Amino acid sequence: MTDKKGIYIHIPFCVKKCKYCDFLSAPASEEEREVYVGYLQEEIRAYKDYGFCADTIFFGGGTPSLLSAEAIEKLMREIRTSFCLESKAEITMECNPETVDKDKLSAMRGAGINRISFGLQSAIDRELELLGRIHNYKRFLEAYREARCAGFDNINVDLMSAIPGQTEDTWERTLKEVLSLQPEHISAYSLILEEGTLLYEKQEELVLPDEEEERRMYYRTKEILAQAGYVRYEISNYAKASFTCRHNLKYWTGQEYIGLGLGASSYLSGVRFHNPSLMGEYSRDCMNLSALRREEQKLSVKMQMEEFCFLGLRLTEGVSKKDFEERFGVPMQAVYKDVLESFQRLGLLEEQGDRVFLTDRGIDVSNQVFAAFLLV
Ligand code: SF4
Repeated sequence: MTDKKGIYIHIPFCVKKCKYCDFLSAPASEEEREVYVGYLQEEIRAYKDYGFCADTIFFGGGTPSLLSAEAIEKLMREIRTSFCLESKAEITMECNPETVDKDKLSAMRGAGINRISFGLQSAIDRELELLGRIHNYKRFLEAYREARCAGFDNINVDLMSAIPGQTEDTWERTLKEVLSLQPEHISAYSLILEEGTLLYEKQEELVLPDEEEERRMYYRTKEILAQAGYVRYEISNYAKASFTCRHNLKYWTGQEYIGLGLGASSYLSGVRFHNPSLMGEYSRDCMNLSALRREEQKLSVKMQMEEFCFLGLRLTEGVSKKDFEERFGVPMQAVYKDVLESFQRLGLLEEQGDRVFLTDRGIDVSNQVFAAFLLV
């Protein structure tokens, strides 16, 4: 395990709430955004004495690209002062196509951001409208080209399947449109109707693809992207060779990360905790790291074993039995003999040499498989 950490920075602002979104984000004025950047700077400064090294940074949200170029530069300067940042660190910023232009993208690149994650979701304007996205496909295309011109050579595009009214045909059109741009990475998640969102309230009026259609879209995605040279390395993530997301891999392989900002989660020295989700509390405590920590949970060895399995099994390469034994001092077989054998008999798990991984059928019912790795 590397001792270099991942840093996640939460920017909880959006122009307008999308109809399916339950993330911690809301519209805010420019002034409110600036004040928040000041709190973030305080929190980053509070880490200075720890001497932590980092090799990935991920600005997520919300809409981090709503920040001004100056604010992004300020935050990056602050991070370089408080953390030792690897020279080849992967530094990602999530961008909504409507909130960037050529100048901002150039400033971002100049500040050290070297990976962009565009929230596109669909290339079909009708579907974007239904989701309540603020951009259309044409604006995404412009932003994508502007990002290439600004020097970004590592771009992810987020896509969403199972949108109401979406058909296998329109999903395929979205995939092909995006493939014509050749991004380095594609994330393709299915829409989940989360309680409290506008779409959840209206679900009775929506025409949603049924489970079978959804599975067919999933398999078609894998097929089309594989033909185009993208490797599926995680249940919902595809990348060209050497462009996997190093930051997200930290989550899936149990590495340490520091969450900065409102509500952000951290995992340090076997302890999971998160920052307050209320701005009043965050602003009050942002200078004092121990006061900021909420719901600290020291992971027991059992919990670490569970996470090792169900996070690692999200990866197509699965988990390594050798790594398990090195980390926990006991063979994986000794802890999970029954689970491993029964799922292999059912054709949901496969073992090849040192690795254990989900089969395609296992991926279809992955949540059930993961649940069986709980040790309580
Ligand atoms: S842009 Fe992203 S974070 Fe903001 S409301 Fe839409 S889905 Fe949520």
